[in-house]
Amino acid sequence: MASATNLSFHKRLFLQLIAFSWVMVLCFVGFQYIREKEYKSEFLNAQLQQYNRHLLVAVEEGEPYETYIASHEKPFDDLRITLITLTGAVIYDNAIPLDSLDNHRGRPEVAAALTAGEGYNIGRQSTSDGREYFYSATSGDRVVVRTAIPYSSTLQDLLEADWSFLVVMISIALVMSVVAYFTTRRLGKDIERVNRYEAEQEQNRLKRQLTNNINHELKTPVASIQVCLETLLSGITLSDDKRQELIERCYAHNDRLRRLLNDVSLITRMEDGSALINRERVLINEIIDEVADELEMLPEEERLMLHLDFHDEVIIDGNPSLLGSIFRNLTENAIAYSDGKNIYISLLENSDKGCRIRFEDDGKGIEPRHLSHLFERFYRVDKGRSRQKGGTGLGLAIVKHAVLFHGGTITVTNRPNGGLRFDFTLCK
Ligand code: ADP
Repeated sequence: MASATNLSFHKRLFLQLIAFSWVMVLCFVGFQYIREKEYKSEFLNAQLQQYNRHLLVAVEEGEPYETYIASHEKPFDDLRITLITLTGAVIYDNAIPLDSLDNHRGRPEVAAALTAGEGYNIGRQSTSDGREYFYSATSGDRVVVRTAIPYSSTLQDLLEADWSFLVVMISIALVMSVVAYFTTRRLGKDIERVNRYEAEQEQNRLKRQLTNNINHELKTPVASIQVCLETLLSGITLSDDKRQELIERCYAHNDRLRRLLNDVSLITRMEDGSALINRERVLINEIIDEVADELEMLPEEERLMLHLDFHDEVIIDGNPSLLGSIFRNLTENAIAYSDGKNIYISLLENSDKGCRIRFEDDGKGIEPRHLSHLFERFYRVDKGRSRQKGGTGLGLAIVKHAVLFHGGTITVTNRPNGGLRFDFTLCK
């Protein structure tokens, strides 16, 4: 089943629009239903109130109420009529014997009539005969007239909201859904096309930038090799030492070219075809041991002391050479640029899902303004030193790509006591 995040832009837009319009329709229908019921109850009440008022006038003018009731047409056939004094005593009821009726002052419709002049109550069960009635009461100067209609299916139908508007609303909502589907499909396709176009443009821009940078990076070593070889081939007499120096310079520039090409190829491979890079079970502890061995082999003046706080085995389903490149590049940088004496590798977290590792040196660190650019390709803090150390300017960009390839993130900060701190995560 497709998850919400896998849905196309069009489908998400469509579902949001549909959900919104159906919520609107339901709110409107609910509101309309309540209004309709209220309107019908008020209409029924108005009919009963009219009868109540006529009866009240007759009673207050001294006409015997039984005569009035018998001689005037009622709005409903089975209308129950009750006359109540202002203190709540029932003095007349055409449906129930008086001796079974208690004080009515507390009945909701009567209480409302006594305070506001009139009141009604929908579907209350009578305490006198147990039937359910629609009550309407009107208060005069001496008595309260209360009329009631038994709650029959006819009355229920009368009070029932008219559902035809609901059918109309649902039909409109359905038509709106169809229109929304086609509109969002078209809109979604257009937006997706624009997004794709922008992503392609950005990728092309990055590729152009990479090509320009590579051209720039290639120029110096190629030109230097050219000069050295021209001098060697020119036939001028050179001392053995000078000849040796030129050959060594050629070799160093060529070595830089080789490393640059390796790094560029690695970075483009990670960007273009990360699916083609194979994965296997890699023991991070082994990689760190290899880095430690390589450090041991360095001449003493270049060597840094490695401090390990890595008390767990960490196995990653990843690419060994990319994982190796993370630790190697960070170590080589610490040797080349930190001016420190120690490096520290610590395992901060290790769970079933992944791990968090810290790599630090105790050197001079770098100015904070450079920190956010450090992972950019060809970004160097000290250009001269980087070139002199044979840096390609791609080391940290490779580290970042390798971390991303393993589903992690990486940050760089200055340590409080000096030196750089890299914190990164790797997914298992
Ligand atoms: P390079 O090939 O120049 O080493 P990187 O991407 O590996 O390129 O590093 C970018 C720059 O960051 C380096 O040129 C260097 O100036 C700086 N840098 C990297 N690591 C450190 C460190 N441990 N201490 C100080 N500066 C560093």
